[in-house]
Amino acid sequence: MEVEERLQDVVSRIQAAERSAKRTKGAVELVAVSKTFDAEAIRPAISAGQRVFGENRVQEAQAKWPEMKGETPDLVLHLIGPLQSNKAAEAVALFDVIETVDREKIARALAAEMQKQGRKPKLYVQVNTGLEPQKAGIAPEETVAFVDLCRRELGLTVEGLMCIPPVEENPGPHFALLAKLAAACKLEKLSMGMSGDFETAIQFGATSVRVGSAIFGTR
Ligand SMILES: *Cc1c(COP(=O)(O)O)cnc(C)c1O
Repeated sequence: MEVEERLQDVVSRIQAAERSAKRTKGAVELVAVSKTFDAEAIRPAISAGQRVFGENRVQEAQAKWPEMKGETPDLVLHLIGPLQSNKAAEAVALFDVIETVDREKIARALAAEMQKQGRKPKLYVQVNTGLEPQKAGIAPEETVAFVDLCRRELGLTVEGLMCIPPVEENPGPHFALLAKLAAACKLEKLSMGMSGDFETAIQFGATSVRVGSAIFGTR
């Protein structure tokens, strides 16, 4: 199958999941995760109408997206990988949504850069719902206080929460936990669900799903 067909298939599955979860049509946004794929592999998805893409590395995104953004100005680029504070300037300059805010140092660096550049990417807080030591994200029990700090102390607008459940576990409880934390923070956006579990995530209230291999193939 070609990228266009796989993209259409994912879009249809999202719509079907919206219906079966009694969600509003169009309630769930598709973030097409294009990490490791080059412009040549990505362009067919843009031609087919996809506008929202996710990348996990700042440098890789910097190398391939400015040209495509030039060709198609309404592209929306999400950073979905861990961010170091020494990359905050590049991230603020390139991305429209940064999904991986997970500690005070990075929140402060982003706040300073947003001020300096006059650019305001939307921000999500990443939660390490499985408390995995190797994984980025704030601990669930610290999430409410951290979102509060971002808002009150740093003047940041947080749009929502994001999580990546442990690969070997049933993702449902992790999605439910993220939804509960978002409600506690009065946040409406939930970035959760990948190629293997996006339909489950939609049942649990995902407002965006990050789908890579089901569209672009195995990495
Ligand atoms: C790679 C990646 C995805 C997409 O994963 P697939 O299983 O290929 O759909 C989603 N979210 C994050 C944070 C990723 O790094």
